[in-house]
Amino acid sequence: MTVMTPRTIADATAMAAAHPDAHLLTGGTDFMVEVNFNHRKPTDVISLSRVDELRQWSLDRAAGKVFIGAAVVYADMEKGELAGLVPALAEAARTVGSPQIRSAGTLGGNLGTCSPAGDGLPVLAALDAVVHLSSADGDRAVPFADFMKGPKRNDRRPGEIINGVTVPVADGFQGYAKVGVRNAMVISIASACLAVRSGRVSIALGSVGPTVIRATVAEEWLSTAGPLDDQVAREFGSRVAAEARPIDDHRSTAAYRRHAVGVISTRLLERSTGT
Ligand SMILES: Cc1cc2nc3c(=O)[nH]c(=O)nc-3n(C[C@H](O)[C@H](O)[C@H](O)COP(=O)(O)OP(=O)(O)OC[C@H]3O[C@@H](n4cnc5c(N)ncnc54)[C@H](O)[C@@H]3O)c2cc1C
Repeated sequence: MTVMTPRTIADATAMAAAHPDAHLLTGGTDFMVEVNFNHRKPTDVISLSRVDELRQWSLDRAAGKVFIGAAVVYADMEKGELAGLVPALAEAARTVGSPQIRSAGTLGGNLGTCSPAGDGLPVLAALDAVVHLSSADGDRAVPFADFMKGPKRNDRRPGEIINGVTVPVADGFQGYAKVGVRNAMVISIASACLAVRSGRVSIALGSVGPTVIRATVAEEWLSTAGPLDDQVAREFGSRVAAEARPIDDHRSTAAYRRHAVGVISTRLLERSTGT
């Protein structure tokens, strides 16, 4: 196996153009599992972990936006200034794997794999994140809603690397909740991110459909539901659950997933008002 180690995005995209069959790798926490199970047999690998530009995040205070490089690791999202700017991402990052996984795993890799169970993805959906991609032919920006196409399918074109995402700085409550078969080191069987943005609630669901799902009908209902009380919070949870499209699989049943995503949505809404 040939492993290429570019130091800049320009070098990485040039290598990707010259080696169209090469596999991209950043932390390797998904990729190496596939190699170990013989699901991938790469001959050429482009490792992005030493591309400094991909490991940076930056704040555009005037625009109220944060750019997070694709190779920023979960350990850097879960605390510090970035955690204060995008609290839901910090909460999601804290639920990922173990400290070892969080030291290596990245948002770029979560987007590259594009599993409906990826913990970063409901946050990107709830915040209407924009995914930035680069290739030897130039750059493009794709709304997250258009980027995720299906289970482990995304809009990345051959020769493109994901260079990062842009998300808005929090201007209200943000929260993330995940249900799994254990409390730690667990892939979610249902998850949700709720964000209050300019006074309006947005909510995105993970692990309950072929893609991450924005529960837009429930969002719309809540915007006219009046003052929040227990009944409104429970009704919101039921309406969110109705928009889930879960399946039975080795991790859970569709019925339990639908129930669980309704419960965590109600709780997130209650948390958003401090009740
Ligand atoms: C023990 C264990 C526990 C885990 N727990 C969780 C969990 O709780 N929640 C969760 O969401 N995930 C979990 N994962 C999965 C994994 O850690 C995450 O999906 C992580 O975000 C992957 O990032 P990475 O940098 O390691 O990706 P890699 O493994 O390097 O790459 C993953 C995929 O993305 C592509 N890719 C990587 N970087 C780029 C880029 N910049 N541009 C384009 N394509 C790219 C690769 O080609 C590959 O297809 C776990 C994995 C393990 C092994």
